[in-house]
Amino acid sequence: MSTNSVDLIPVDAEQSYNVRVGPGVLGDLDDLLAGVTRVAIIHPPVLAERATRLADSLPNRTYLLEVPDGEEAKSVSTLSDCWDELASIGLTRSDVIVGYGGGSTTDLAGFVAATWLRGVRFVTVPTTVLAMVDAAVGGKTGINISAGKNLVGAFHEPIGVLCDPAELTTLDIGEIRSGLAEVIKCGFIADPPILDLVTSDTVAAVTAAGPRQTELIRRAITVKARVVSGDLRETDAGAAIGRAQLNYGHTLGHAIEQHEHFQWRHGEAISVGMVFAAEVARRLGTIDDDLADRHREVLESVGLPTRYDPDVWPQLRETMALDKKNRGTKLRLVVLQGPARPALVSGIDEALLAEAYAATCA
Ligand code: NAD
Repeated sequence: MSTNSVDLIPVDAEQSYNVRVGPGVLGDLDDLLAGVTRVAIIHPPVLAERATRLADSLPNRTYLLEVPDGEEAKSVSTLSDCWDELASIGLTRSDVIVGYGGGSTTDLAGFVAATWLRGVRFVTVPTTVLAMVDAAVGGKTGINISAGKNLVGAFHEPIGVLCDPAELTTLDIGEIRSGLAEVIKCGFIADPPILDLVTSDTVAAVTAAGPRQTELIRRAITVKARVVSGDLRETDAGAAIGRAQLNYGHTLGHAIEQHEHFQWRHGEAISVGMVFAAEVARRLGTIDDDLADRHREVLESVGLPTRYDPDVWPQLRETMALDKKNRGTKLRLVVLQGPARPALVSGIDEALLAEAYAATCA
């Protein structure tokens, strides 16, 4: 088990790249930018000082593009402001864009890079747990429009991803927990030792930049890298489940996020969503009680919510019917068929779904 060393996790893509994880990897940015003339660093206000230091440390001609915090960054107007800035900088196709921030910043920066001059190279430097284990890896980029989140986007792989745990020390505990929900998801769908690493020392698991948390992040990135390498464009062709497995807990989770007008963090919503998926699987008989109960145990151990309002099932069910992962009118849900055995199931009995939801709220 590596702790303080740097890991290189390969992602097989049209142009393959590595995710570098470990203390000090931010210092590798100049390697990735060797020979590049101009570098535009897109960052949120909270990282303004650090972005300035980062820019000053590079030998390239650097430009800072500060974008609004959180989801506000992922708007058409911010996108258009970035294009205007790049035009005034004169950023060419041989230059590079760096997305430095949480998932909203890296999603925007990736889409700016995908669209500017029909595509320029970009590097992601994620600074939240969630962005490290999820948003920055896999090549999905995008913005929100009034009709919904992430409705406009492109697949555009980075040339490199740098995950430096030191970046996480300023995150608030809520953001850390939210990211850990995605880590725990990876434990259930692919890498069960993650679950023991969380529950055997929960203080270490939530301690930013500590060796336990870094190991958890490394393992979760390895899961995501393996899944996206096998299914770059989310085709889910054939019998294999592919990238859809990453959606474990997300069908109900997305409905909760919408019901909460996005005031709940993503990880909090998918935490409840995973408990629901486990309750469905318990009733379908695909997992035993131990594995079903383990969901609540692990998620609660790091302070994630696992229950929701029993009275809003009809509204949530309606939202779930619109889930992007459905085919036709059928709800498709990722459920486990055992530890690390995710499968897509459709045509689940409505009474069973309602009963599983009631158990989730109990
Ligand atoms: P975020 O980018 O909004 O960051 C959360 C908050 O933390 C923000 O207020 C941000 O300014 C702040 N922050 C970031 N880094 C910090 C640091 N080091 N110290 C202190 N504060 C810091 O949210 P997120 O949770 O990182 O990402 C969520 C976004 O990621 C959503 O837009 C979601 O759609 C997207 N996402 C994309 C993918 C993908 O495959 N592209 C996957 C999952 C999520």
